[in-house]
Amino acid sequence: MSRPLIRALNSIKWREAAMTYCYCPVCNAKRIIVRLHHNEIAVRCLTCRATSVTMSLVAVLRQLVPDLSSKEIYELSSRGPLVTFLNKNCKKLTCSEYFDAVASGDSYNGILCQDVQKLTFPDNSFDLCTSTEVFEHVPNDLAGFAEIRRVLRPGGTFLFTVPLFQSPATVERARLDSNQQIAHLLPAHYHGDPIREHQPVLVYRDYGKDIRQRLINQGFSTAKLLNPSSPIPWHYARAIITAVK
Ligand SMILES: [Zn+2]
Repeated sequence: MSRPLIRALNSIKWREAAMTYCYCPVCNAKRIIVRLHHNEIAVRCLTCRATSVTMSLVAVLRQLVPDLSSKEIYELSSRGPLVTFLNKNCKKLTCSEYFDAVASGDSYNGILCQDVQKLTFPDNSFDLCTSTEVFEHVPNDLAGFAEIRRVLRPGGTFLFTVPLFQSPATVERARLDSNQQIAHLLPAHYHGDPIREHQPVLVYRDYGKDIRQRLINQGFSTAKLLNPSSPIPWHYARAIITAVK
């Protein structure tokens, strides 16, 4: 048996496992969707492998940008169902990954590397920028938001997801000190990351209800939370943050 298959089988909690046949926004058709356990990233379309987070983002993208084929897009990851979808449906896709030891603008294993806090793209390069579950891992997210705004064309939109919490204000869990060393303000919390072979990635903050204001403060003209209009199975719809330059 292959290692990914063994990993998938091991991750199934059989009492929580479920299957349904319903609309997948990424496939734009009815598909078999499975749930391996009670977690949004354990919900997958069997055809395109999108999680409920990716399904939510694509559903909002379809609502907001019907003419995707005329758009130049920058996505802050280099593989997976969202990249496949964007590649197939937009005019031009630019992808990147972040690696600690690689300078912004360089390549690593054929993948463009970018630090979102200091992108190397010229101003006004893209119609849309997208990311899923990235900014909670960026030490200076405000610098990252400002950079995304800079590389967007006027009227361009940034669509992204981060885990959102009910607290009024964003809670910083860690920060970089003046020597660029990580200082923990709260117990360290990590997320897995497929591009780093599931190495844990530190969560710098838990975003609260002030996320829209954080974007406005970096110069975006509007910032909203939008819910997908098509239902996501088992009510795992994610609010998508959209900010317009
Ligand atoms: Zn699908």
